[in-house]
Amino acid sequence: MRYLNPVILALLFLAPGRVWSDDRLIFKPGFNLFNPQQDVQLGKETAEQIDKDVPLLTDPQVLRYINDLGRRLASFAPNNNSGYAWTFKVVNSSDINAFAFPGGYIYVNRGAIEAAENEAQIAGVMAHESGHVVMRHGTHEASQALLAQAPLALLEGLLGQSGSLTTHLAEMGLGLGLNSILLKNSRRAEAQADQVGTYILYQAGYDPHAMAQFFEIVEKRYPQKTMQFFSDHPVPENRIKAIDSETPLLGAAKEWKTDSPEFVAAKKWLLSLPAPPAAKPVFSASAGTPVPPPAPSSRLIKFAGNGYSIAYPDNWQVQENEDAVALIPPGGVIDIAQSGAAQAYGASLSRFEPQRSRQGNWGLIDATEELLDAMRQSNPNLRVIKQSGMKLAGRAALSTLLENDSPLPGQKERDLLFTMQQRNAVFSLIFFAPESSFDAYKPTFDAMEQSLELR
Ligand SMILES: [Zn+2]
Repeated sequence: MRYLNPVILALLFLAPGRVWSDDRLIFKPGFNLFNPQQDVQLGKETAEQIDKDVPLLTDPQVLRYINDLGRRLASFAPNNNSGYAWTFKVVNSSDINAFAFPGGYIYVNRGAIEAAENEAQIAGVMAHESGHVVMRHGTHEASQALLAQAPLALLEGLLGQSGSLTTHLAEMGLGLGLNSILLKNSRRAEAQADQVGTYILYQAGYDPHAMAQFFEIVEKRYPQKTMQFFSDHPVPENRIKAIDSETPLLGAAKEWKTDSPEFVAAKKWLLSLPAPPAAKPVFSASAGTPVPPPAPSSRLIKFAGNGYSIAYPDNWQVQENEDAVALIPPGGVIDIAQSGAAQAYGASLSRFEPQRSRQGNWGLIDATEELLDAMRQSNPNLRVIKQSGMKLAGRAALSTLLENDSPLPGQKERDLLFTMQQRNAVFSLIFFAPESSFDAYKPTFDAMEQSLELR
């Protein structure tokens, strides 16, 4: 189920440097075992793999536009190491997303360019991604993951060797899911990328608010297309307020640049293209064959979410993001090159407000259909097997059994979805596992379902 992009790692918390000092802006990257040249090398090796795995747009005009814009923005970035690659690629996907690998390898989805209302907004996304690059968030995360596995002196020795960095990292146990680690951003890292992005926008003559505006607009307008973005880039607290308070420190308000004929032309051209192919899970060659998770523990512990509680096996982990909570067995997340990672086993809980609720009454069947439509955006082969009414947590509920493609190559997935009304919204609980192991998980899913309480 491509719902979230959780990466589970025992992380040591090593705080990055302070970003604010009195009224001056100081951008200081956090702890890092790599040097900036290694950021470039690692980014290059990773990008070569990604280029094979994701559908890229090759139109020279759009690429020239995005690269010109990206390099202009990068020229204003703090901590900009002269060796950074600043290579921008456009992924042929309608999902609104963008991601950056270390050393300046940045991917912008076609969907993000199409959703931007003007150049300042797409510049905001790219400035934010550039922020991840110059703050070196990818190798910072990788450094922390490495430190959890081996002593510092040993790591420094291993990283000092010549040869492929991805190979060395695989030898250090960081092969599986490396892409996901490099793309994993904490809320703190997101806040920093916002701060750097805001700085870049201001220096480049754009309204610094355009970045936050874009995130807000797309989240409201295309909720089903942005799950991936907000799972790769968790929303920092008080994003708008933080940007508002940073802006005056940058200098006086200017006559902002908002649009350009080049942006208008690039967007028009993209919109005229045939729709991108439906996303297919693509396996990263480095991922190897995933090992199935250990059996769910029979000891259940309680998770209290916003307006609900549920019990789950005590050997599972909780991954919370803006829109959903995932309950995941160890190893239940599979590395997929195209989108970072997808959950193959476990449960996910979320809530959404049906579009039709604005016109007054809505029925659970229609609302569930709306949710399924949204899920089909990233799970194109999702198919209803059976649907029936029932009672759950003391309320009228709808139970929907589904078939889907598993993130595991060549396997089908079985999904069991429960939907019910909670205040003016639909609460959903979904269980999923590869078809071959669904029956083994069913008693755990049943116990979790029975434990659900809604307020
Ligand atoms: Zn981000």
